[in-house]
Amino acid sequence: MILKNNLTGKRGWGLSSSRFFIAVTVMLLTGMSLFARAQPDDGSGRNTSTAAAGRAKYVFLFIGDGMAMSQISSAEIYTTARSSKDIGITRLGFTRLPVAGLTTTYDAGTFITDSASAVTAIATGNKTLSGVLNMDPGKTKSFKTIAEYAHEAGMKIGIVSSVTLDHATPAGFFAKAPSRSSYYDIAVQMARSGFEYFAGGGLLQPRGKNGDQADVIQMAADAGYRYVNTKAAFDALKPGAGKVLAINAVLQDSGSMPYELDRRPDDLSLADYTSKGVELLQDNPAGFFMMVEGGKIDWACHANDAGAAIHDVIAFDNAVKVALDFAQSHPGETLVVITGDHETGGMTIGFAGTQYDTFFDKVALQKKSFIAFNSDALSPYKKNTPKDQAKLADLLPAIKEAFGLDYEFLSGFQREQLEFAFQRSMGDEIERPVAEDQYLLYGGYEPLTVKITQIMNQTAGIGWTSYAHTGVPVSTFAVGVHQELFDGYYDNTDIFRKMASAMNLNL
Ligand SMILES: [Zn+2]
Repeated sequence: MILKNNLTGKRGWGLSSSRFFIAVTVMLLTGMSLFARAQPDDGSGRNTSTAAAGRAKYVFLFIGDGMAMSQISSAEIYTTARSSKDIGITRLGFTRLPVAGLTTTYDAGTFITDSASAVTAIATGNKTLSGVLNMDPGKTKSFKTIAEYAHEAGMKIGIVSSVTLDHATPAGFFAKAPSRSSYYDIAVQMARSGFEYFAGGGLLQPRGKNGDQADVIQMAADAGYRYVNTKAAFDALKPGAGKVLAINAVLQDSGSMPYELDRRPDDLSLADYTSKGVELLQDNPAGFFMMVEGGKIDWACHANDAGAAIHDVIAFDNAVKVALDFAQSHPGETLVVITGDHETGGMTIGFAGTQYDTFFDKVALQKKSFIAFNSDALSPYKKNTPKDQAKLADLLPAIKEAFGLDYEFLSGFQREQLEFAFQRSMGDEIERPVAEDQYLLYGGYEPLTVKITQIMNQTAGIGWTSYAHTGVPVSTFAVGVHQELFDGYYDNTDIFRKMASAMNLNL
């Protein structure tokens, strides 16, 4: 009864406050677009209207995979919560940009796109089915990408990603394939693309699915690429290095760069790869087009690990800052666009158990991603402990070290959930039930680890609805030449046309 009254009371307040919030948001968005139209873009005093501005010679496209407003706002609230007890927002660099738009992400077959159809839309302006890369839904016709048009126009091309270079989002700028999982075929297309700079994660199948095909790294070398895979060799690259294929020295899950949470301070970051791209590509009369993907925001959200996602959004923002610095020193010829390809996880700010409160400072206790906890603690424990001797208590110190989660302070219900998940994790892979309730509880992930991050996130006031993508629109931000094109509410296929128009490409 009390709970009901309490809820009803809060609900009444919540409704009126959400109406207020919508009104304020509308006012802000309207104000933002007015600002975008009225203000010069870069402080240079230039008129940035389409007619008066010149061609965007240096173009950056940043794609936060799985990044919509929940991921962005969580990073902002987290940064605020770490520095102050006050309610407020510490803006990321890219949310301060003068132009903000909203972008729909549905594909040819579903409201909930995957990364292959999403990148096809962004890179070629065409809708296709999930899983298909730069081909029509019938998989017979292939589409030319913005990077290919730009390359033909003499621009140098850079493709940077924190996940493997043959993964859907980076591949979407140079490859066409009926299936995004044709990793070898995609990697071969990379080696033959002629693009000037590939950097970040590795390749999933450099010698084919069965390891018996021609080595793609060798193929790239034969095509004139300089291959580097150490920090020292990477740092030594100077303008004039020629075409470069740079793979991070440290690779984590599935050939990707480590999560920002797990990156050692001396290892290369997404910002480092962006910065080197600028250094290598900028000396070119026709300029460059560089796509930079924060690919593991998506992976962290699939696993419902808000800590890992938030730190990767911050690393992504640091990479954007490299472009914003470049734009400042090259006013009137640079365009920087930031978008997401879809939302992942149905992440939200608010959880039933914490109602109107959030405790984002708790996210700061997490020192490792879910995947690092698995490889450092859970997998070795599973390997070395007979099932009948395994007890959750053995892992509590490692859980506390990785996540700051103190068993002593958990509720009875949370302890029970953790114990149950531990039992599931200790079961044989084959025995593990695939029943609906098991999927709803843990997705396809290690039950114990997912349960830990879920409890952590719920305690912080962060909720999840899925281990897959969702269909909400994403946000697109822009600054620079023709920034005004990115104002408003539009589809992801329009991003292709807007960029092509800003770059004055002949389609
Ligand atoms: Zn995904």
